[in-house]
Amino acid sequence: MKTWFTMDEMTNEQDEAVQSDISITGIHFQYYLVCHRKLWLYSHNIRFESEHENVHIGRFLHKDRYKREKKEITIPGAMAVDFIRTSDGLELCEIKKSKRLEPAHKLQMMFYLSYLKERGVSARGTIVYPLMNRREPVTLDEDGIMRVNSVKTEIAKIVTNELPPPVRMKSCRKCAYEDFCFGDAA
Ligand code: SF4
Repeated sequence: MKTWFTMDEMTNEQDEAVQSDISITGIHFQYYLVCHRKLWLYSHNIRFESEHENVHIGRFLHKDRYKREKKEITIPGAMAVDFIRTSDGLELCEIKKSKRLEPAHKLQMMFYLSYLKERGVSARGTIVYPLMNRREPVTLDEDGIMRVNSVKTEIAKIVTNELPPPVRMKSCRKCAYEDFCFGDAA
């Protein structure tokens, strides 16, 4: 049995130990880029999302504009994709209201593609912005895989540490946790 490790190996072992304790989903990836406090709250099941107006708008967009598309696909504990297309290989499609959080949308999709690739399933992704009539393709290359793995490690560290303090930013105005974070000052 090996009894010594290089620093890199030790870091990898610690990262894997942290990651193995939590189940990381696409939402974690999105919140990682939005706000680490939001990521922490969500990960500890402190959730107010269902009451927020953005969620209702998202549901409306999904039901109304894409009701003829194939059904949502869900892999419990990993992903829930709005709809898929299969006419030219597997294409995962996510519907989003605006491009304000586009980097987070793309990172979330890269996580889905990486999750499937690890299980031998090739796919590509598309983020659909119906209100802007835009479709943004997402593919997974080697850099993308490395980015997904490194963010996965960062997420695990944030979630297993203390709750980050609230820091006022642009996203707070559209965040379901605003009252929780800032109370009367919201
Ligand atoms: S209100 Fe702001 S600080 Fe609080 S969780 Fe939301 S984005 Fe983060």
